[in-house]
Amino acid sequence: MRTSKRWQLATGLLILAGLGAGSSIAANTCEAPVAVQVLGSGGPEAQQERTSAGYLLWLEGKARVLVDLGGGSFARYGASGARFADLELIALTHLHPDHATDLPALLKSGYFSQRSRALPIAGPTGGGDYPDLEGYLQGLFAAQTGAFGYLSGYLDGSDGLVRLQRRTLEADSREPIPVLETDDYQVSAIGVSHGPVPALAYRIDVGEQRIVFSGDLNGDDPWFVDFARDADLLIMNHAVPEQAGQVAARLHALPSEIAEIAKAAEVKHLVLSHLMRRSERALDDSLARIRAVYQGALSVASDLDCFGLEPRGR
Ligand SMILES: [Zn+2]
Repeated sequence: MRTSKRWQLATGLLILAGLGAGSSIAANTCEAPVAVQVLGSGGPEAQQERTSAGYLLWLEGKARVLVDLGGGSFARYGASGARFADLELIALTHLHPDHATDLPALLKSGYFSQRSRALPIAGPTGGGDYPDLEGYLQGLFAAQTGAFGYLSGYLDGSDGLVRLQRRTLEADSREPIPVLETDDYQVSAIGVSHGPVPALAYRIDVGEQRIVFSGDLNGDDPWFVDFARDADLLIMNHAVPEQAGQVAARLHALPSEIAEIAKAAEVKHLVLSHLMRRSERALDDSLARIRAVYQGALSVASDLDCFGLEPRGR
């Protein structure tokens, strides 16, 4: 069991439980050596305070990994101060608009950056109504036929654009898939159940620190518990209340399921994100249900919150 202290940096609604000695709350910055910033804490609804899903991994003051970029989160990306030239990976959990639709906006913005090296991008295999990552990118950027075919240089590195290094990940995988390894961190992915939608969760290990992004999942995957085990930070979707109807519950984990996952995985800090109006209306009830089972730190994300972790053991 890892025991060193964590930094808890968050603004907005922050609910803490089980904090160890030495934890502290500071202003809304991403100045911790290792931090996750929430770009969008909402789901697919247009909301005043929340944009759709998006998260940044900050290391030593640089935003290195982007997980998802749903509607509106591009503006939060701008507000975060992240630089396109610093990005080392874009990791898409699945190809719903609230997770992937601002990608063309980000890439167009990147045209005006100083970046010259290729940009890795990961996403799921396809199935049913859903293209795989390559199909999504071709639909957007293929010359002549793509919606933004004039940006086809992102597919082949022409026209002064940086090439997207595509990595299509098997959404049916029940074993972790290595995605990216650098001197500072490793990224892996695993398939999760989100109804009929091919979907992935991602994990980033920085030294001995572990950060897990659930993406959208319905809580039916026992292998996800192992994937998230001992996470210092688990960013978990919270899209439905306990009384969710059958269709919603087939897509999203109930609060009781979130609690069981966080407890079984011995997660140190659970952050609820991807909130929708229906989950916000029942938030008190949901938090009580989670508290009754899970004893670790618990936060509810707001857009642009930063959750800092102190690196150790490198
Ligand atoms: Zn979603």
